[in-house]
Order: sequence, then C-alpha cells, then structure tokens
Amino acid sequence: MAEGSGSAGKVYPGMVECGIKCPKCDGPVPLNGPWETAHCDRCQADIDVPHDFWTDIFNDIIEEIKSGDLAEGEGRNSTIFGTFNTTLLYGHLIPYCEECKTDFDMDTLDLAPGNAFVHKCANCGRKTNVAPPPAWTKEEYPKAKVFVNAIMESGDKGEAPAVSGPVAFTCPQCGGALMVDGAERLMPCKFCGVNVYLPDDLWFRLHPAKTKRRWFIVMADG
Ligand SMILES: [Zn+2]
Ligand SMILES: [Zn+2]
Ligand SMILES: [Zn+2]
Repeated sequence: MAEGSGSAGKVYPGMVECGIKCPKCDGPVPLNGPWETAHCDRCQADIDVPHDFWTDIFNDIIEEIKSGDLAEGEGRNSTIFGTFNTTLLYGHLIPYCEECKTDFDMDTLDLAPGNAFVHKCANCGRKTNVAPPPAWTKEEYPKAKVFVNAIMESGDKGEAPAVSGPVAFTCPQCGGALMVDGAERLMPCKFCGVNVYLPDDLWFRLHPAKTKRRWFIVMADG
C-alpha cells in the first residue's frame, strides 16, 4: 500500500520532544504532537498553541539540517522563552522503532498518506503510528509531510488510563460504597448526599499525568 516515495526529492527528518510550562499554574505540559490546544492536567486549563510556535520550531530544524549545523544523528537541547516557557529536544533523526531502535526505511515510507497508518518495524515488528499532517499545515506549512509516533490531538487515546472501568471508593462521611468512573473529581455520595472530593492517589491513577514522548516530523520542500 505504501507507495515508494524515494524519488520525491530530499526529505528532512526531524525529531521533537517538547514541553511547556502551563501559563496558568506553571505545571509541566508535554506537547506530544503538533497540537493547536494543549491541556494542563494540574489545573485543567486548555492552552492555545499558536501555529507559529510550531512552524518556528520546524523551520529551525530544517534550516539547521540544510546548513549542515545539525548532522544526521545529532540532537540538541534548547530552552525557549517566548509564547511559552519551552523545553525542547530536537534533532536530525530518521524516525526509528522505539523498541529496537531500527531506523525506518525512508525510501518506502509513504510521504503523502491519505490517512493515518501503522508502520511495522522491519526488525522486531513493533507498530508505530504514522499520520498525515493536521489540516492547518496544508496552507501554513506545506513542508510537513508526515508525523511519526505523534499524538495528533491533545486528549487523543494513546495515553491510556492506568485503570479501566469504575473503581470502588468509600464515602468518607457515611462509609457508603461509591463507584467512581473518573469523569468528575467532585461527586455527590448517593447515600448521604455529601460532595466527595476524590483524593490525589485515586484521581491521578484514573488520570495519569502525560509524559513527554518523542515524535518525528518528516519534511520536504514544496
Ligand atoms: Zn496548569
Ligand atoms: Zn523494532
Ligand atoms: Zn456518603
């Protein structure tokens, strides 16, 4: 299905690992894909991420690759004080399998997929998600061709809760057995009516904090 695109000209593979500080509470917010909105797990704020936040980062990577500043296999850490307080690890790296570190074969990677697809590692068989760019890049950043191992929208699956299904919890007021599904942190006890605020250990088990993830953007001119 993946038609070879090796003849399509030069491609620039960039690796990204990125996090910002929440502007409201200073909590760490990983950006695990080219999101337009991020969500702070600590204070529940939704944070708008401007498009040029991403295009600046992608342009820097592509320029450093073209100028030879960033040789293949090289990565760099940077801290950016701009729209956000950002920590960024970026590099000139071909997407690779997280399990066995085998590089993707760039000659056969579909650089114009209509839909997201799964790349199977040639060595160990591990599956990695490959996605077409989000809609906004079509006009604003056509150099973006595919995203590898990124979560394409904040809140997407891919970060499964540590527990699935409802969890039993005892009402601290009346001792009634409540079933907690994690939808709301403050829930009324159906026996005594008191509002029960779920404690941190239970809440964070139902809503694990997102961790930073390494993802790739494959770019090409035109
Ligand atoms: Zn916050
Ligand atoms: Zn592998
Ligand atoms: Zn109760």
